[in-house]
Amino acid sequence: MKKYWPPVVMLVIFEIVAVTLWLTKDNMFYLFNFSYIGLSISFGVFLFIRKYKHARHIVQLLVGLYMLIYLGLICNENMQIEGFWYYLFMGVFEAATIHYAVAKIFGPLLFGRGWCGYACWTAMVLDFLPYKVPGNPRKKIGWIRYITFAASLIFVAALFLAKVGNIERIMFWAFIVGNVIYYAVGIILAYVFKDNRAFCKYICPITVFLKPMSYFSLLRIKCDKDKCVSCGKCKKVCPMNVDVTDNSRKRLNGTECILCMECVRNCPKGAL
Ligand code: SF4
Ligand code: SF4
Ligand code: SF4
Repeated sequence: MKKYWPPVVMLVIFEIVAVTLWLTKDNMFYLFNFSYIGLSISFGVFLFIRKYKHARHIVQLLVGLYMLIYLGLICNENMQIEGFWYYLFMGVFEAATIHYAVAKIFGPLLFGRGWCGYACWTAMVLDFLPYKVPGNPRKKIGWIRYITFAASLIFVAALFLAKVGNIERIMFWAFIVGNVIYYAVGIILAYVFKDNRAFCKYICPITVFLKPMSYFSLLRIKCDKDKCVSCGKCKKVCPMNVDVTDNSRKRLNGTECILCMECVRNCPKGAL
């Protein structure tokens, strides 16, 4: 039974967040929202422990579709980076600002880039493409993320500075158009670079938050050097080109790890 503790701990953490936000914000939505996400992630971890092959895809679909369709399209909440800037400029700690604080800014100190591996609705689609293992070496064009990051900030700041009316409606359409662009660019890049996660590696603006915070992550894949036979299989199957055999925080592409567990599943010696 000891092996089932991780999903239980995960659920408890999410319930603490859910109840805290429910009581402090006096809004039942937070109880429902974080309980649902916690249950989905815990269910996925449970399936992973049971060695179910598609455990991660199931969590991606459960959380990703909920955020994209229910929160985004039905509730009109822009959970993308523009939505974060929008609420930040409004000076309110609601919706996207809470989402970013939990999943993308402070959460990664605890669970690294778990968001990227299990919940992102962009990667939910990209991970079904054929290049699960990168077919080409990594390119040195990660600087593009700073341009997309700055563009999102300038876009929302300009709306506020120009005192444009009905920004809320613009945010809704920005969510739709932004997602269409993300999916289109993500799919094209995956085929051009033969790498499903090319969008994550070079374009995604959210990595500007995720990478530095996940550097300090409590949850990390570690290598037992006594068991490792340096076969290199873990590096071959890693979608993010992480040198997971190096236990230091400065390991190659360390802040790219999305905790997908492919290396763990494929290590022939159980060293990870
Ligand atoms: S890097 Fe960006 S697009 Fe990729 S999984 Fe993370 S948040 Fe999603
Ligand atoms: S797959 Fe396992 S044994 Fe092989 S290099 Fe990686 S950690 Fe070592
Ligand atoms: S394969 Fe291992 S090192 Fe690579 S992203 Fe997945 S969990 Fe991280």
